Amino acid sequence: MSSERLSTERWLFWHRRDLRLADNRSLAAAVRATPAVTGVFVLDPAILEAAQGHGPMAPARLWFLAESLVELAARWRAAGSRLLILQGDPAVLLPRLVQQLGATVVAWNRDVEPAGRERDRVVARALQAAGRRVMVDWDQLLVPPEALKTGAGEPYRVYGPYWRSWQRVVTGTPGGVDPLPAPSSLIDLSAEQLAERDLGAGERALEALRRDHGFAGVDLCPCRPGEAAAAEQLSAFCSGGRPPLWGYEPGRNHPAVAGTSSLSAALKFGTLSPRQAWAAAQQARSEVAQLGGAAEALASIGVWEQELAWREFYQQALFHFPELAGGPYRPQWKRFPWENDPVRLEAWQQGLTGMPIIDAAMRQLASSGWMHNRCRMIVASYLVKDLICDWRLGEAHFMRHLVDGDLAANNGGWQWSASSGMDPKPLRIFNPATQASKFDPEGDYMRTWLPELAHVATADLISGDIGALERRGYPEPIVNHKQQQARFKALYAALPR
Ligand SMILES: Cc1cc2nc3c(=O)[nH]c(=O)nc-3n(C[C@H](O)[C@H](O)[C@H](O)COP(=O)(O)OP(=O)(O)OC[C@H]3O[C@@H](n4cnc5c(N)ncnc54)[C@H](O)[C@@H]3O)c2cc1C
Repeated sequence: MSSERLSTERWLFWHRRDLRLADNRSLAAAVRATPAVTGVFVLDPAILEAAQGHGPMAPARLWFLAESLVELAARWRAAGSRLLILQGDPAVLLPRLVQQLGATVVAWNRDVEPAGRERDRVVARALQAAGRRVMVDWDQLLVPPEALKTGAGEPYRVYGPYWRSWQRVVTGTPGGVDPLPAPSSLIDLSAEQLAERDLGAGERALEALRRDHGFAGVDLCPCRPGEAAAAEQLSAFCSGGRPPLWGYEPGRNHPAVAGTSSLSAALKFGTLSPRQAWAAAQQARSEVAQLGGAAEALASIGVWEQELAWREFYQQALFHFPELAGGPYRPQWKRFPWENDPVRLEAWQQGLTGMPIIDAAMRQLASSGWMHNRCRMIVASYLVKDLICDWRLGEAHFMRHLVDGDLAANNGGWQWSASSGMDPKPLRIFNPATQASKFDPEGDYMRTWLPELAHVATADLISGDIGALERRGYPEPIVNHKQQQARFKALYAALPR
């Protein structure tokens, strides 16, 4: 325990999307002030049962959350203190808890989502009304959203210039984004403080969540819950002989290959911090340099760093433009005459469109709670531009299934695919067959997720042009890409501007 610590006031640290002890910025600040810190997590029905207006949280995320919390609780015990699990409304429960424990300060890390920010305002007001202080900081981003502005003093709307100034900030403050160690030698609650509470209720709720999350794809999901698994995944991706990171470009585009990190759920729930990810990339850079530095490996690391910046770009966009959560950024898209054919939508959701690359991706999502990024772009373009369905139907479907479902990244990805977002390119239409031939040229990905088509020739898998005898019950394509593309373009051209 550090002798610099000034007091043994009891502080609470409220975990939300930062389910780790290491490199947790507000937690580290709390521990600098006092060793008597207790962790709290609130199982909030407003989030678990109605995630961002898209209905209950995806079973895959419930699983990831419950398992990560169990591990986090064990880490708090090993550090000398404990994690309390509560169930209900944080604005009611936290003021009650500080009263019961005689805590003086509640610390947490800030959120970018509109509902989360509003919840935090309500909780802060309730705590202050109870005579307590709150301490907040940014943690889930390498660069806080308020820190970057254009020359005109505006938030960034375009990724290219955002990336350039983001990179300048990240690399320009030596040590500024170095990960912090996990706290240790904390002071637990006293026997009297513990007697004040029914500690079993929260644990029972967590046990119920672990049992009843309803996610059947645990063995297929590439994202692993908990801080330890995130660190292992990061290390396997970034270091060792020739780690996948060195071949990220072009490996990241081939869904049949494990060429990406699968750290999206870890970054979403904060079992990994973005600074830890960034530091691993910097370590990989120096390993490449020591080994005589292949230019492709360094370029690959650079591309991965840009993906970390995409994540932050969408989060700062949502922070500055909360209206993104409600619909298209570009106003003309509010008047687009979506057809929203329920039969086509259902075929897309169930992976029964008759286009193998689409159906393979949608079945990967349904079975594993995750989908490769290349395929997310292909199925999103197909739903919007080929099936002429409102992108918000796809956005909601993704939120109901993704283990990494995240309002900022998901909304950003869908608005990018629909061409309704901030991205300056007006109309982006993917041809699913061309995409399959470029990115799954041997058909391995399609055969993995569509075992009923394992016998079909690769060229036919790619085109979707499968003979009647070969289909064996697999549907014919529900639409013709060329016709639908022309139709979509005509509808777009007729939009009043
Ligand atoms: C329609 C659509 C919806 C999406 N929905 C989500 C979502 O709900 N949650 C989510 O985390 N990502 C989402 N993405 C972005 C991306 O598909 C995933 O982050 C990525 O597939 C996760 O795999 P990975 O961890 O192996 O990524 P890697 O390729 O290893 O990238 C590293 C990390 O960078 C971030 N990242 C990478 N690409 C993007 C991107 N385009 N936008 C934002 N962050 C990115 C992720 O945190 C990712 O874990 C979506 C993309 C599209 C096109």
